[in-house]
Amino acid sequence: MDKKLINEFESLLGKDRVLSETEELLCYSYDATSKNFMPEVVVFPLNAEEISKIVKLCLKYNNTPIVGRGAGSGFSGGSLPLKGGVVVSFTKMNRILELDEENMFVTVEPGIINADLKSYLSEKGYFYPPDPASYEFSTIGGNVAECSGGPSAVKYGVTKDYVAALEVITGEGEIIHTGTKTVKNVSGYNLTQLFAGSEGTLGLFSKITLKILSKPEEKSLILVSYDDINKGFNAAISLLKLRNRPSMLEFMDKFSIESVKSIFKSDVIKITGKFLFIIEADGSKEEVEKSIGEYKKKLEEFSPVFLFASEKSEDKKVIMDARKAISPSLRKYGDLKINNDIAVPINKIPDMLDFLEETSKKYGIPIINFGHFGDGNIHVNIMLDKSNAEMVEKGGKAKYDVLKKTVELGGSLSGEHGIGLEKKEFMKLKYDDYYMNLLKNIKKVFDPLSIINPGKIF
Ligand SMILES: Cc1cc2nc3c(=O)[nH]c(=O)nc-3n(C[C@H](O)[C@H](O)[C@H](O)COP(=O)(O)OP(=O)(O)OC[C@H]3O[C@@H](n4cnc5c(N)ncnc54)[C@H](O)[C@@H]3O)c2cc1C
Repeated sequence: MDKKLINEFESLLGKDRVLSETEELLCYSYDATSKNFMPEVVVFPLNAEEISKIVKLCLKYNNTPIVGRGAGSGFSGGSLPLKGGVVVSFTKMNRILELDEENMFVTVEPGIINADLKSYLSEKGYFYPPDPASYEFSTIGGNVAECSGGPSAVKYGVTKDYVAALEVITGEGEIIHTGTKTVKNVSGYNLTQLFAGSEGTLGLFSKITLKILSKPEEKSLILVSYDDINKGFNAAISLLKLRNRPSMLEFMDKFSIESVKSIFKSDVIKITGKFLFIIEADGSKEEVEKSIGEYKKKLEEFSPVFLFASEKSEDKKVIMDARKAISPSLRKYGDLKINNDIAVPINKIPDMLDFLEETSKKYGIPIINFGHFGDGNIHVNIMLDKSNAEMVEKGGKAKYDVLKKTVELGGSLSGEHGIGLEKKEFMKLKYDDYYMNLLKNIKKVFDPLSIINPGKIF
């Protein structure tokens, strides 16, 4: 990188908001994948005007690449500076700018942590539903860029369903404003929704306006398990058909159950069965009581092997701690994990689970599954021993087979983690050249010289 560009950043932002020493840059070279790419400089802007100037300087100096970074918790390599260049860290842009209680919107800077926004709103009686398992450390900017989702998506939808307006800096350094604080808005193309899930490739967000809801008064949980996937599947479907559908409908296969069984404190919650569902009802006290009664009745019709309902906050904590612990606990099955967040239409989940069992047997490797049943979003974890080259090769083949089957079943290569670097070679399983060119041409409109997060998605 031209040293003059670093000097220009220092003049613009001050030396304390520009990092260029190797040991400092290392901290911005990773995410939650196992890949690493070193940036050449990291900058910390405070507003849209500064970001615009940063982009224009990058254009001036040989079209230097720029990658936005929130908390660096992505699972698809989105925040990795594949081609070096500049990482724009949003950690210093983490303020809540406006709570509009009459219209029910909140406007924030992109670097705010999801959990900080949730607790600010909760104290005032409001609720921002999207709840990726990383909500305690991931940023709203990263959540919007990846269109993150979590357990509440079954009732409340994902991040894009809450993004109402954005301030964005394009690849030409122009500041644009998309969307409105209105429910209805049909004025030209819906750029707000195009940016949500664009994986940081179309522009950098500097302000985000989100829809908010009133906080539900109560929440209550049921744990239920079945020995047979078809019984479990039909039981879960019957809950989704209810008007008061669950606010969470998570499932775990027998390996995931085994992996976190001890966290469930087995003296209280004695889990048996092969498929476990964690089901939540939310609403007013009366609504929750009614929903739990209805859910239990429906679930019992399909002969569960285990059913546990509790309103106690300590039980809820244990259950949710166990759910959150699944991913890290899987290390006992292998020190290398190929994590796929596929999504299939809900009625194809049993076919997909059968296929995953066959694939596990075919290659002789553990494939462990859990996820968000109500969204058809299955976290498929192919567990490998990284020192065993033959096994790692089989893992790659299993990943290909799983993604191919996902497409055949009418599903999506990624439900929530994005394509980034991890799945870009598999896009051709789903899309032909004409479609891929449409995507590339959309990028060119916002970023003609391809300086914003180059090398991702395609
Ligand atoms: C333990 C764990 C659990 C997880 N659970 C979930 C889950 O349940 N659901 C889920 O969806 N994801 C999950 N994730 C993945 C990850 O947390 C999400 O993708 C999250 O939204 C990333 O946020 P971040 O702030 O870390 O963004 P980063 O990883 O820093 O960046 C992600 C993408 O956003 C872009 N970006 C960041 N800020 C901006 C901005 N201001 N403007 C434009 N682009 C920007 C980056 O360039 C990059 O492309 C999990 C990750 C971990 C490690």
